[in-house]
Amino acid sequence: MAAITIYTCVCGVQKKTSNHWVLAKVTSHGVTFMPWDAELARSRDITILCGEGCAASMLSRSLGDWKKPAVGVTNVGSVTDISAVISAEEYELAVA
Ligand SMILES: [Zn+2]
Repeated sequence: MAAITIYTCVCGVQKKTSNHWVLAKVTSHGVTFMPWDAELARSRDITILCGEGCAASMLSRSLGDWKKPAVGVTNVGSVTDISAVISAEEYELAVA
């Protein structure tokens, strides 16, 4: 059977063989851009982009989102140093 998958960019352009398409994945931690992969492109959480133009506009949109104040974050600038919590004995076991 010959299954034909039609890939469509967020801008509505459909993929043809000669296009330089890329993929993007948006998570709560940021945006990741990656080279075209036909299998990966089928994933639900992957955004299909027809090229640099659409990738750039997506990045721009994400940067705009990041400027919005984060809700519920009150602990800014306080990172606990976990290594200080580990006792000397545990440390020796860890490096042995
Ligand atoms: Zn596009």
